[in-house]
Amino acid sequence: MIIDSHVDTPTQLIRYKRNIGVVNQEGQVDFPRMKAGEVDGAFFALYTPPEMKGAEATRHALEMLGATYDACDEYADVAALAFSPDEVAQNRAKGLISVMLGMENAEPVGESLSLLRAFYRLGVSYVTLTHNADNAVADSAAEGTRWGGLSPFGREVVAEMNALGMMIDLSHASDKTFWDCIERSAAPVVATHSCCRALCSHRRNLTDEMLKALGEKGGYVGINFYPYFLSDRFDEAKAWRPGVSEIVDHIEHAVALAGVGHVGIGSDFDGIDDCTPEGLGDISKSRLVLDEMRRRGWAEKDVIRVAGQNLLDVWCRIVNCSE
Ligand SMILES: [Zn+2]
Repeated sequence: MIIDSHVDTPTQLIRYKRNIGVVNQEGQVDFPRMKAGEVDGAFFALYTPPEMKGAEATRHALEMLGATYDACDEYADVAALAFSPDEVAQNRAKGLISVMLGMENAEPVGESLSLLRAFYRLGVSYVTLTHNADNAVADSAAEGTRWGGLSPFGREVVAEMNALGMMIDLSHASDKTFWDCIERSAAPVVATHSCCRALCSHRRNLTDEMLKALGEKGGYVGINFYPYFLSDRFDEAKAWRPGVSEIVDHIEHAVALAGVGHVGIGSDFDGIDDCTPEGLGDISKSRLVLDEMRRRGWAEKDVIRVAGQNLLDVWCRIVNCSE
């Protein structure tokens, strides 16, 4: 079982009208390729670009949400939405791929807790607080100048997400936003698609202290497959690309700090253009990461945890905290 904590497929559904019921030559995710790779589910991110603001962002998120619903309706014999860990298990028992919903960039919520609750009721299970711009909720890793972490409204968002059982996703967040959430959130927090800064210096990767704190809080990090986040050796010339070996290096580093129960896979497929790691051209190949872990002597029970069980477990913990 593989459960991926972050793919950007909804953007592809509306931008390129991708039919995800068939094998595509473009992009990295569709239902047949998930099936071929034994990927049982993925969080589909409703991604709003940083330059899109206000009502336009809200409309954009709703359009992606609708397109994702439509795709699941059209291919109801292969996939179904899952709004809870229980529904993932139910879908799996029926042999269906689970499509979970996340929102990447809280801009569509504006400054309204009612909108946050509405998106939750529509099935959005996590919110990545920012993308590459500071917004009304929090500062981002790419800017990080507006609030010095969470905004006053962002603190209300954190409390409300705790109450609802929504996952607070800190990928893209500034370091200060990260630490504010570690301090303020009553529930574990997650980073759905992030790597380790000790192995690759990108500002958006997590420091050792952050990985440790994430684990101690019962949270989760999904290791990202984007070559720029995996290795400082990767550059514009693209003469060399990181592959499964570098991905497993990040997994092992994160496990050493956060613990084996707190790490998973958050590929970022469909959000990385055609810049994929060596040998991992699409989601059907994600399983090669697990093969590399086995080759390095990982116990099968731990491979299973990283492949998806940890993500479902943290989701359960966060839901339980709300009850
Ligand atoms: Zn992202």
